[in-house]
Amino acid sequence: MTSLADAAALPLLQSLKPSPRMPTLFVGHGSPMNAIEDNAWRRSWQSLGAELLAREAQPQLILCISAHWLTRGGWQITGMAKPKTIHDFGGFPPALFEQQYPAPGAPAVASALARDLKSPTDGRQLGVDADVWGLDHGSWSILKPMFPQANIPVLQLSMDYARPPAEHYALGQQLHALRDRGVLIVGSGNIVHNLRAMRPGTGPNDAYEWAAEFDTLVHEQIKTGHLDTLQNFQALGAVAKQAHPTYEHYLPLLYAAGAARSADAPRFFNTGYQGAAISMQSIVWG
Ligand code: ZN
Repeated sequence: MTSLADAAALPLLQSLKPSPRMPTLFVGHGSPMNAIEDNAWRRSWQSLGAELLAREAQPQLILCISAHWLTRGGWQITGMAKPKTIHDFGGFPPALFEQQYPAPGAPAVASALARDLKSPTDGRQLGVDADVWGLDHGSWSILKPMFPQANIPVLQLSMDYARPPAEHYALGQQLHALRDRGVLIVGSGNIVHNLRAMRPGTGPNDAYEWAAEFDTLVHEQIKTGHLDTLQNFQALGAVAKQAHPTYEHYLPLLYAAGAARSADAPRFFNTGYQGAAISMQSIVWG
């Protein structure tokens, strides 16, 4: 049920039909090749998508927060009717550049969301991006295996990388009310992400000590319901710096966790690593 406080805070969202509460997800996306390789990560995404579609209520809309859309000076929401598939990577085979994910946008909902969600920085409304962005690979590489029919509208929400982690978590908390309006929240990043340290030829159980340590610390916080503490990851010091030389892949976790509530028991999947330095650990709440 949407609480009165939530409904009052988000009046325009009444244009979205009330719905049984949708889950909120954090998905580790890892290598872009996971979008097209038949591997265990991708098979998990396929089965999770099938499971979500088999539930009593299907998502009416997907709101994706990807590590690969960073803005400065504010947050943006994609507002185009037909968001383009962005191939924001280099050095991969042509088959990956040929991938398309033609899910529709939802311009009216994007405008309503931009008005209703408040910037944690100054309380002002968010921006609507009508022509620059689209769906980057943080979104489509996981959504295509999950929802191959591409018939659920997808919006992306950018992350203002100039702002501190606490503001990202605060915006994530605002997303909670959307779950009762049929919106599936999807944060897409990685709980450990150090590209320079990646080692070829490693298996899913191989991880640097610091990678496993950070991954486990985050796992324990989630498992014990201490979601508020996730925003303080930098206080973990050296291990956090090794896990995230830059931390854009961590921030989407704060949105997904911010949209969760204590009643949402976390379910973990895709635990393991790519290249010993990328954690694929993923979570479903609700
Ligand atoms: Zn990425």
